[in-house]
Amino acid sequence: MLRLTEETFYWWSRFGMDYPALLTILLIAVFAFGACWGSFLNVCIWRLPLGESVVTAPSHCTKCHYEIRWFDNIPIFSYLWLRGRCRNCHEPYSCRYLVVEALTGTLFTLLYCKIGLAGENPALLLFYWTMTMLCITTGWIDAEHRLIPDATTIPAFLLALLYSVIFPSVWGENATWWTALLCAVVSAAVAGGFLGAFALIGRKLARRDVIGWGDVKFLTATAVLLGLPGAFFTLFAGSVAGSVYGVILARIRHRPLRRTRIAFGPFLAAGALLWMFAGEFLLKWYLQFVRVSGLAQ
Ligand SMILES: [Zn+2]
Repeated sequence: MLRLTEETFYWWSRFGMDYPALLTILLIAVFAFGACWGSFLNVCIWRLPLGESVVTAPSHCTKCHYEIRWFDNIPIFSYLWLRGRCRNCHEPYSCRYLVVEALTGTLFTLLYCKIGLAGENPALLLFYWTMTMLCITTGWIDAEHRLIPDATTIPAFLLALLYSVIFPSVWGENATWWTALLCAVVSAAVAGGFLGAFALIGRKLARRDVIGWGDVKFLTATAVLLGLPGAFFTLFAGSVAGSVYGVILARIRHRPLRRTRIAFGPFLAAGALLWMFAGEFLLKWYLQFVRVSGLAQ
């Protein structure tokens, strides 16, 4: 029930609920759902760079190893209730826990509204929510550790292939499961191949790594989750933002631009988020701009 049609609303109205009340409950439920996934992303952000499993060991305090009970693990509420401290040893927890949970919940809700309001294919929401989780996890890990773990990009890529087979309509109205899979694989190969070739040629010319393989894998997964235009938009927007940041950083640190290294992951993540929320609008605006300047000549 992504959109509240008159028919679905009729059934809810029999429980005595009016439209604003129902919509509020729906949005709160989506936010809570997103915040729960945010809680899982926190585990990924902390454990993946350490090479630990994200499923086997239960959550525990990193200082006193006190096992966190379910009632202390409720997204957002528990953090606020315990004022961001461990119940046992009172060690303060990173504010990342709160930020990631609230951010994931908010982005899930906004994307739900955006796709629902625009009347887009409801299955697209699965792709976008997965992309959101990939963006938050890799963006954060890369900013902190300068690495994009395969444990984030490869599962996202495989999930996207699976979604394409189950919901082929995302790739086109008449797409069957195998044409959707073909589109997904070709998109991944083009985007991944493009950035991979750039990485290889760049290393030859500059005699150092100009881009990490984690970034290449991230863009490959993006191409299946957002399609080829989305992947190239992500790369373009991420490169522009990353370059501006690099120039500013070099200025502040009084270092040559050549020796200024930045984590590219957070910028790619920002580019992908921008595409999901405003990609179509920006593309239309850009094409209009090109058409106008073409006419003027
Ligand atoms: Zn503790």
